[in-house]
Amino acid sequence: MIYDVVIAGAGPVGLFLACELRLAGIPVLVLERADDPRSPLKRLPFGMRGLSVPTVEAFYRRGLLNDIAPPASPRQRHQPGHFAGIPLDHANIDTSQWPYRLPNPADANAAADMEHIETTLAARAAMMGAEIRRGIEVEGFEQSGDEVSIRAGGQTIRARWLVACDGGRSTVRKAGRFAFTGTEPEFTGYSVQVELADPEKLPIGRHYTPTGMYFQSRPGTIAMVEFDGGAFHRTQPVTLELVQAVLRRVSCTDVTLTSLNLATTWTDRAFQATNYRDGRVLLAGDAAHIHSPLGGQGLNLGLGDAMNLGWKLAATIRGTASAGLLDSYSSERHPVGAQVLDWSRAQVALMRPSPQTRALEAIVRDLVGTRDGATYFAGRVWGVALRYDVGGGHPLAGRSAPDFELADGTTLGGRLGAGRGLLLDFDARGPLQAWAGRWSDRIEYVASDAKDTLGLSAVLVRPDGCVAWAGESPPDERELTAAAARWFGEPQR
Ligand SMILES: Cc1cc2nc3c(=O)[nH]c(=O)nc-3n(C[C@H](O)[C@H](O)[C@H](O)COP(=O)(O)OP(=O)(O)OC[C@H]3O[C@@H](n4cnc5c(N)ncnc54)[C@H](O)[C@@H]3O)c2cc1C
Repeated sequence: MIYDVVIAGAGPVGLFLACELRLAGIPVLVLERADDPRSPLKRLPFGMRGLSVPTVEAFYRRGLLNDIAPPASPRQRHQPGHFAGIPLDHANIDTSQWPYRLPNPADANAAADMEHIETTLAARAAMMGAEIRRGIEVEGFEQSGDEVSIRAGGQTIRARWLVACDGGRSTVRKAGRFAFTGTEPEFTGYSVQVELADPEKLPIGRHYTPTGMYFQSRPGTIAMVEFDGGAFHRTQPVTLELVQAVLRRVSCTDVTLTSLNLATTWTDRAFQATNYRDGRVLLAGDAAHIHSPLGGQGLNLGLGDAMNLGWKLAATIRGTASAGLLDSYSSERHPVGAQVLDWSRAQVALMRPSPQTRALEAIVRDLVGTRDGATYFAGRVWGVALRYDVGGGHPLAGRSAPDFELADGTTLGGRLGAGRGLLLDFDARGPLQAWAGRWSDRIEYVASDAKDTLGLSAVLVRPDGCVAWAGESPPDERELTAAAARWFGEPQR
């Protein structure tokens, strides 16, 4: 037996990718090293993950948003966000800078805990027919021109494609021919839950000191960084004594701990694979890029990888993909990852314990306080500035499709649940219906007026919700045909 796709790792990225592939009808096997997916670190408070607008949109378009972050639950939040702890002021953000965004249920960031995200995605993947085997570690692989032999749990499993979603220390990435380059850490970060003998010595909130930074969100729940070059990360057990010593150094107090309930360490090591594809092996999520969790973007980046890769790999397997479609996964997602790594490095640079850094931070704080500054930072933090280079002259091309409300009350987002391409034609008397027939097996044609068409006559949307082409009246059929061929392959005969 040979699988079309084996995914290494049932973290959020592997599971979401499995859902995307099943949506296209591709058989998928997911291999997960851990027997039990549950962990205290995946629950509150440390398991909380901020979800950016592209992630929320992706869940909305696949009918998962209400399960993962229902609007009325405390999981959902509408916070403007921050940069290196400097909060953005909602009132200062000029949303008219993103004229193609329409109000919709997914137009705000949200939050949910890791365990809930993983449980929901695992249930959806299994319900859609993905096979998930837990307690099986991928140990290595060999690939030939037409298949990959995967060594896992003492057996050999054959697949046409292998996708590494096995996290930052990815076995698959290390076993493959992937260059992984970047910058070494400046600090060790700690997330701890402790009991304090003298809590009055440690004020709530984020505090920069001459030796580092600590952030106490509520009594005893503390994140702190010590600029030690990452020396303590995974080099010794995180004991009460160690945490107390670090907390004393970083807070410049003599605070005393009476117990240590939970602890994990991390660093600002920022590395990225130079290419996300080597033949029949692909990387996604933390397997492709690692950076500090400050600013909370890693999960969003990984889920964006999965949304971008799923339909491209499915089309490649079905034989309908245009030449170069699969390689566009790496060429589109690598620059997005590189930007996130730099965003995280810039935040680290603003946290260094030096008078120069505090002076620089004060200037950045002033800039964040301006309307242009707040808008710039919000575009990056919310993820709404994201744009792929898809060619074509329209300013909407490459951006997330506006959530048009159609005449029958349905929305564009609601119509992307099947994971197919979509041609939205606002001028049903025009020529595009005949045109659409040529791609009817891959592109759904919807002729409808909309509450607000944003002055467009038609929009071609990829399965991942990205606008492949947008036209004003009269539509340029040649440009539309070129966009369709690029993203959906040759038309039917
Ligand atoms: C403290 C902290 C806070 C964070 N906050 C945020 C946030 O607010 N927003 C955000 O976007 N991101 C955040 N992140 C980052 C985010 O959690 C990760 O980027 C995300 O979990 C990556 O998902 P993944 O599926 O790629 O990898 P992982 O979640 O690491 O999953 C990988 C899976 O692969 C399995 N595995 C590993 N090796 C093998 C193998 N050889 N064979 C089979 N299975 C294997 C693992 O057991 C695991 O289940 C945070 C991270 C930390 C540490």
